[in-house]
Amino acid sequence: MTKPPKNIAILGATGSIGRSSLEVIRSSAGRFIPTYLTTNRNTELLARQVDEFHPKGVVVLDNARAKGFHSSHSKRVEVHTGPEGLLEVVSRDDVDVVINALVGFAGLKPTVQAIKHGKSVALANKETLVVAGEIITALVKEQKTSLIPIDSEHSAILQCMLGEERKNISRIILTASGGPFLNYPLEDFPNITVEQALSHPTWKMGKKITIDSATLMNKGLEVIEAYWLFHLDPGNIEVVIHPQSIIHSMVEFVDGSVKAQLGLPDMKVPIQYALTYPSRQALNGVRVDFPKLQQMTFFKPDREKFRCLQLAYDALELGGTAPALLNAANEIAVEAFLNKKIAFQQIPELIQRAITEQRVQKMPSLDDIMEADRSARDFVRKLI
Ligand code: NAD
Ligand code: MG
Repeated sequence: MTKPPKNIAILGATGSIGRSSLEVIRSSAGRFIPTYLTTNRNTELLARQVDEFHPKGVVVLDNARAKGFHSSHSKRVEVHTGPEGLLEVVSRDDVDVVINALVGFAGLKPTVQAIKHGKSVALANKETLVVAGEIITALVKEQKTSLIPIDSEHSAILQCMLGEERKNISRIILTASGGPFLNYPLEDFPNITVEQALSHPTWKMGKKITIDSATLMNKGLEVIEAYWLFHLDPGNIEVVIHPQSIIHSMVEFVDGSVKAQLGLPDMKVPIQYALTYPSRQALNGVRVDFPKLQQMTFFKPDREKFRCLQLAYDALELGGTAPALLNAANEIAVEAFLNKKIAFQQIPELIQRAITEQRVQKMPSLDDIMEADRSARDFVRKLI
């Protein structure tokens, strides 16, 4: 018997993950139907996506852009706006799965709303789990729904864990490409430019995560994400540098056996897996050519050079609102670096001050997390 198609809302449809999600849907022979698409302000691309995919509704976060889009498109598609618009579309009955491909803290409330409405969530927006992992995982349990990671490392771990018992897992090894500054000497760090930091060696992604990959904060955020998804002690979540980005992550078991998931770096694979899990579906694309690859290498990350990784472990250890402070400080610092207001090395400095000089609240509610996010943003903006 053929399964009915799944209706999908894609939050952040115009971004890197959003566009790859639509490619997956395009080649899915009607198994997935995009019923809602959203953008911050890229209405040109959204218009083309509406022409091709005919969603029921869209959200344009930016009010002025939404008005323009409404004038030109309201006969063909419902047009919503603002953060309320995101909450509205994820609650609709004609949504089975929400792909959250928003960037940053803005992804938190839509995730919460989607889970509260019993939707399955395919999560690219790792910031959601970083800032509110405890609340989110409890809510998923309570609502008996599912939260499947799109992040390639976490998708790899999920694939390695299939058929295994939790009690037999001893260690998770997250792989990291190391970013563009892996072999850059520390004394040259003061001269790092925005353009250099934006040229990632193996992955093509949105700007914020590309900078996070250059500082290794991305890996730090992923350690926290893995903690909430897989419930291991932080000491058993390790990071190894693997510049080829072929092994997406590994799981070690109590008998010393290690499973790894491999593939060429292409986010369409984990996106599709999040939609078909625990099953698979064919996907065209280039395959790993092992003789051509010849070798895979591994290194220990340099936590002195890439302080953001250590700061993320520190925030996880501190608990409570500390990861929310870390995340907010990082978002503001990265934005300031992209706008050439601060130097690359000031990113970890600002984050460190945000997590050590501000109050950390234990057992935070969602409101406490919102408040921690607001205050950390103000704190870092004042320092800049
Ligand atoms: P991106 O910047 O390319 O896209 C972000 C999308 O969200 C765009 O559609 C944009 O219009 C929208 N958006 C931005 N700010 C918004 C706001 N405040 N409110 C509502 N909409 C907003 O980002 P991306 O690279 O696709 O990353 C998205 C998420 O996926 C991030 O959390 C990132 O860490 C994660 N992720 C990305 C990759 C990747 O390969 N790009 C891999 C793993 C995880
Ligand atoms: Mg990743």
